[in-house]
Amino acid sequence: MTAADAVEQVRIAAEREADAADREARFPVAALEAMRATGLLGMMVPKEHGGLGGSIGDLVEATVALGRTDMSVAMIFAMHGQQVAALAGYAEGDLRERALTEIAEGRCYVASVTTEIKGGGLLDSDARTRLDDGLLRLDRSAPIVTGGLHADAFLVTMRSPGAASPNEVDLVWVERDQVSVAPLGGWQPLGMRATESGPMRLTGDVPASQVVGGHGAFPGIAAALFAPLAHLGWAAAWLGTAVGAYSRLLRHLRSAAGRKRFDPGSDLALVRLASVRSRLDVTNAVLRHTARAVESTEDPTELSTQLLVNTLKTHAARECFAAVDEMIEIVGLKHGYFADSELRLERSFRDLRSASLNYSDDRLRKTNGALALRDPAVRLA
Ligand SMILES: Cc1cc2nc3c(=O)[nH]c(=O)nc-3n(C[C@H](O)[C@H](O)[C@H](O)COP(=O)(O)OP(=O)(O)OC[C@H]3O[C@@H](n4cnc5c(N)ncnc54)[C@H](O)[C@@H]3O)c2cc1C
Repeated sequence: MTAADAVEQVRIAAEREADAADREARFPVAALEAMRATGLLGMMVPKEHGGLGGSIGDLVEATVALGRTDMSVAMIFAMHGQQVAALAGYAEGDLRERALTEIAEGRCYVASVTTEIKGGGLLDSDARTRLDDGLLRLDRSAPIVTGGLHADAFLVTMRSPGAASPNEVDLVWVERDQVSVAPLGGWQPLGMRATESGPMRLTGDVPASQVVGGHGAFPGIAAALFAPLAHLGWAAAWLGTAVGAYSRLLRHLRSAAGRKRFDPGSDLALVRLASVRSRLDVTNAVLRHTARAVESTEDPTELSTQLLVNTLKTHAARECFAAVDEMIEIVGLKHGYFADSELRLERSFRDLRSASLNYSDDRLRKTNGALALRDPAVRLA
C-alpha cells in the first residue's frame, strides 16, 4: 500500500468518528486502528527496520491531508511521527531495533511527555529521577499527554539522575507495561477534544539503557530534531484544518443552497475570500520552504534555520486561526457559528484556538528576538 492510500484510509476512518470523538472528548480509536493496519504509524521508521522510510516532506504532506478532515487526528499522527524520527535519529542497539520494529508493525503508538507541571519550557526539567542498579526510578507527572491512555510507549523528558543543573535533561523510552499509568484528572478543553490529552502520572522502573542518545542529550535532540519536526508537523495540521474548512466553505457557496444567500458580486465577500486564500497560500509557502530548509541543511541548529522554524510555528498558528475566523464572517451564524453545520467551522475555530498555546507563541517570539540580535547580517534561511 502506498503512503497516499494509507493516509486516505485513515482519513476515511477519521471522518466517520470525528463528530462523536469531539462531542465526547475521546480518542479517535478507529483512526489509530487504521494507522496501525495501514502501516502509517511506521511512516518515519527507516526501511531497514520495516517502515515506510518517509521524509520530513512526506510527514508534512500526510499531516496536511489528515488535517483537512480532523485536526486532532492530524496532530496525533504528526506528534507520533516526531517521536519516531527522534528514535530513528538517536536510539541505538537493542532499543533501536525493538522500538522501531514494533512501530513499523503497527503495534506501537508513541505518546510524548515533555510538558511539566511547571509549564511548557522544553529545555529544563524539574522532574527528578534516581539511578539504582542500572534502573531509572521514574515518577513523572505530566499535565497534558495526547492519547496517553491509548499509548503503547512514551518518550519522556526528565532531569538526568544526579544532574547539577535543570538543563541536564534525558529523553527516556518507556514502554506501557514497564510503568503504572494513573490519570490525574479529566479532559474537557475548548478544542482538540479528540486528542484526549488528559493529565497523568507515570511511575515505575526502566532500564537505564532506555535513555535515548545518552544522559543529558535531550536539549541537543530538541534543537536538532524535536523542535523542527514539532513545528513543521503542527503547522501542517493547522494548515490542513484551515484548507479543509475553506474547501467546504467554497463548495457550500457554489451549491444551490449557498447561492441563495451568497452574492458573488459583493466586493466585501470577494475581498474576504481573497484574504483567506492568501493566508493559506503564504502559510503553505512558508511551511514547504521550511521543510526543504530543514531537510537540506547539515545543521538544523544553525541560527537562521532555528529562526525560520520558530517563525513558521507562530505564523501558521496566527494565520490559520485568522483564516477560519474570517471564514466565519463570510458565512455568518448558521454555517459559521453553529456546531451542527456540515462546514464544521465552529470545530475548526475551537481546534485552531489551541495553536498559539501549543508551545506558547510568546516563548518562541522571545527566543527569536534573542536569536535575531545575534545575526546583524540578517542571513535568511
Ligand atoms: C492540544 C494539545 C496537545 C498537547 N499535547 C502534549 C503532549 O502530548 N505532550 C506534552 O508534553 N505536551 C503537550 N501539549 C503541551 C504543549 O506542548 C505546551 O507545552 C503547552 O501547551 C504549554 O502550556 P502552558 O500554556 O501551560 O505553559 P507555558 O508555555 O508555560 O505558558 C503559560 C503562559 O505563560 C506565557 N509565557 C510563557 N513564556 C513566556 C515569556 N517568555 N514571555 C511572556 N510570556 C510567556 C504564555 O504566553 C502563556 O500565557 C499539548 C498542548 C495542546 C494544546
